[in-house]
Amino acid sequence: MPISDAVTADPPRDCPLCPRLVEYRRVNQAENPDWFNGPAPSFGDENARLLIVGLAPGRAGANRTGRPFTGDHAGWLLYATLVNLGFARGEFQARTDDGLELVDCMITNAVRCAPPGNKPLPAEETHCRPFLVTRIRTLPRLKAIVTLGDVSRRSVLRALGEKASAAEAGHGTETDICGYRLFNSYHCSRLNTNTGRLTPAMFEAVFTRVRAYLQS
Ligand code: URA
Repeated sequence: MPISDAVTADPPRDCPLCPRLVEYRRVNQAENPDWFNGPAPSFGDENARLLIVGLAPGRAGANRTGRPFTGDHAGWLLYATLVNLGFARGEFQARTDDGLELVDCMITNAVRCAPPGNKPLPAEETHCRPFLVTRIRTLPRLKAIVTLGDVSRRSVLRALGEKASAAEAGHGTETDICGYRLFNSYHCSRLNTNTGRLTPAMFEAVFTRVRAYLQS
């Protein structure tokens, strides 16, 4: 699917673009009919200056609840950090009715449907990218983008019409590109936090830099 201006910022609930993900959705619907089981829409402030781009909904996380990073391990560190830095208000309780509000911040995913094993295929990243393109274009005040992990970084760069190699990989790197500043972080996954590859202090340091940048 070519990058197009015609797509919406979030896919339709019954998005048909990725056969493998549609099949996985059907399986999840059959097993857990009370779950959300669809492309998790972006969450947050439509006037945000900060966009955070994750990988994809976890099967029992955003795929269950319908809100990015809500219901699986990764959300605890992400939302606690956002509250600490003033990008969220309220108390995250891993439920969509916890009243948590994002402030000057929006969260989305590079791939909007849950992939088996949390691993989207390259073709699925490509199919989903037009939604990310529109997501970025329709945030009128956007200045900073935090990418969580390699898939997110590459997908954002391609969404901006750049090569996937156009920004340095690695935790804590920053690149000015297409009028935005990209802040790259390791993904706040259970694997990364349990192994100590990503500590809460390392994660908070990225958002502290974002805060300083937005205040500059
Ligand atoms: N939940 C999400 O919504 N995205 C991720 O990348 C991980 C968990």
